[in-house]
Amino acid sequence: MTSLAEATPRSASAFRIERDGDLAILWFDLPGEKVNKFSSAVMTEFAGVVDELERDGDIKRIIVASGKPSIFIAGADVTEFSKATSAEQAREYTRFGQQTIHRFSKLPQVTVAAINGAALGGGCELALACDYRVMSDSPKAQIGLPETKLGIYPAWGGVTRLPRLIGLPAALDIILNGKTLDGKRAKKIGLVDEVVPAAILLDIARQFAAKPKRKGSGRTKFYIEGNPLARSIIFSKARKAVLSQTHGHYPAPLKAIDVMEYGMSAGIERGLAREVDEVVPLIVGSTSGSTSGSTSGSTNGAAGGSDVAQNLIRLFFLMEDSKKERIAAAPIEVRDAGVLGAGIMGGGIAQLIADKTDASVRMRDINWKAIAGGMKAAAKIWKKKVDRRRMTRVEMQRKLARITSTIDWSGFERCDLVIEAVVENVEIKRQVLREFEAIAKPGAIFATNTSTIPITDIAAQAAKPENVAGMHFFNPVDRMPLVEVIRGAKTSDVAMATVANFARKLGKTVVYCNDGPGFVVNRILGPYMNEAGFLLEEGNTIESLDKAMVDFGMPMGPMALLDEVGIDVAAKVAKILSAAFGERMEPSHVVDALYTDGRFGKKNGKGLYLYEAGKRLGPDASVYKLLGIRSTHPADATAVVERMIFAMVNEAAMILDEKIVASPAELDLAMIMGTGFPPFRGGLLRYADKLGLPYILARLDDLAQKHGKRFLATAALRKLAERDGKFYR
Ligand code: NAD
Repeated sequence: MTSLAEATPRSASAFRIERDGDLAILWFDLPGEKVNKFSSAVMTEFAGVVDELERDGDIKRIIVASGKPSIFIAGADVTEFSKATSAEQAREYTRFGQQTIHRFSKLPQVTVAAINGAALGGGCELALACDYRVMSDSPKAQIGLPETKLGIYPAWGGVTRLPRLIGLPAALDIILNGKTLDGKRAKKIGLVDEVVPAAILLDIARQFAAKPKRKGSGRTKFYIEGNPLARSIIFSKARKAVLSQTHGHYPAPLKAIDVMEYGMSAGIERGLAREVDEVVPLIVGSTSGSTSGSTSGSTNGAAGGSDVAQNLIRLFFLMEDSKKERIAAAPIEVRDAGVLGAGIMGGGIAQLIADKTDASVRMRDINWKAIAGGMKAAAKIWKKKVDRRRMTRVEMQRKLARITSTIDWSGFERCDLVIEAVVENVEIKRQVLREFEAIAKPGAIFATNTSTIPITDIAAQAAKPENVAGMHFFNPVDRMPLVEVIRGAKTSDVAMATVANFARKLGKTVVYCNDGPGFVVNRILGPYMNEAGFLLEEGNTIESLDKAMVDFGMPMGPMALLDEVGIDVAAKVAKILSAAFGERMEPSHVVDALYTDGRFGKKNGKGLYLYEAGKRLGPDASVYKLLGIRSTHPADATAVVERMIFAMVNEAAMILDEKIVASPAELDLAMIMGTGFPPFRGGLLRYADKLGLPYILARLDDLAQKHGKRFLATAALRKLAERDGKFYR
């Protein structure tokens, strides 16, 4: 077996020791990289440095410092550890890193971490192994342990050391939620000893290095947690909280609790050994990754021990990839942005631009009442930040003042990019585009936020269709991370690159799409939402449908989602999709019946659920009467999940075949970011592959016989099932 260290090219020296009397500053500066990270090669070199420090009797004090401007150590090299395929490799990799850091913690010298920037994962664990931690007050300096977000836990000593330094509750909060903290918050909980301006970081670190070595890692103030009964109550509460949040789908946080509990009573050495033992199965998972077996209809089960980390790590790489521009054209820099329509979406988009960029924001609607609504919606988003003390009131006022508004076109002649978010009507959108083109400066880009209408149709009468692209945000704009960037028949590369670049500046994940009704996410959600309607008509209850999908891992069920999105919006989308795709997207009567009854969902406090002052209460039983449903009899959850998920898989195969999106991975990214499709499942198509397409095809054939043509397998799915058996090659 080749070890990971052997498989990785050796780095040129990442460490340099600068001596000053009995003080050594250990500079970490990985050559040729923007960030410091621990690959096996770097860890091997670090082990050599520790050997040297162990032997050197002249050195009495050590400061660990970074040569990178805003990074201390970003953590382990994820690319590398995700490649560990055997349990032995994963064990060796983890054990070696952990033991090297542990040896560092036992050095006789006084050790200080001078944290100038991000100290994440393994970087934080090295800092924890020091006697003292001094941190810069720069906003880029962040310390924390995000491992559980990748389906593992901190096993280089993090789980064992953190509770001894800051106490159990605070340690659990950081590890279970994968949190990172700025200096101020880290100091407050005792994670760092001092927070200082970057310019004097090293001077203060020197002062700490002059202090005596810290004795023991425990602190007396945690004596309550020294009591085994108190400890077991804290751990049992933590387990409950994790289970209610994750429905048992994420094994890493639960394992972290087990290991921490064991380590707190068994001591550091045994705690460290347990860290390694328990993390190995999480890293390796069910590496066959496979399509085999699972034809048992286990659609609703937890991911059984499993490929969660592999899926989360893949997602991490997908997100990294989506940040890289692959269109060659240079984007236009957006100094002046415009927003057309001050409704739910327009207000949110204007807020986001003012919040995240330095661009000026001009917002237009057809009357002042609508504009007041948009401004109010924007203010509400910032107000939440002020309430949580993430922003001052003055900052909020300043940002709000950056959005100017108008009911004519004044100011829009300056805009480099306008984002159109007026009502979902092709004629109105064309009219707005025509009016904009009449006053636009040359080269200005018009990006439409349409949910369903093909960009090519909107641009059909445009003078400059090359400047028209799709920029599809999701509701609520400030919270949903996806933007679909859509290429119409004539859209230029410059327009695509400009829209994508701007979306990334707004903090969004970009998925490029080709044109077609509903693009990717809404087109796939169409059959899902329709099926939920049919299932309701058949006698499933509002709560049974929502529970089935929440248990599957969706952030909310389809009924709650309908209320959230707005039944009026859903009715419009359903009509457009059914006109475009015929019987495959033929809606149930549910949405229309609710809409006609004046139920728009959460926005007017009337929908499938009852509301009081905007808060969702229980399901509204009068819905059944309205829909003519006499008795309810919920079906088995697996059957419900299969119908809703397989309907999506069927459509997704066609979307790939039509090249609306470039790859299964990008489709999965879009579904995770756009709908919250459970990340631990790796995305819709990863999940389909796990079940195996032949199984899904057989189920669709069966469903088509029972429930009608909407389940007929698309030719694309049939071809894939018969040829490859899966989406990913
Ligand atoms: P909305 O009804 O809340 O707002 C639309 C606004 O456009 C209204 O204030 C209206 O007065 C204004 N308007 C109409 N004609 C105009 C014109 N000629 N010039 C300027 N403003 C005009 O609608 P919304 O939910 O914000 O949706 C806007 C767009 O975003 C639609 O295309 C919709 O499909 C899309 N979208 C909506 C959602 C969602 O969940 N609501 C999600 C993604 C995309």
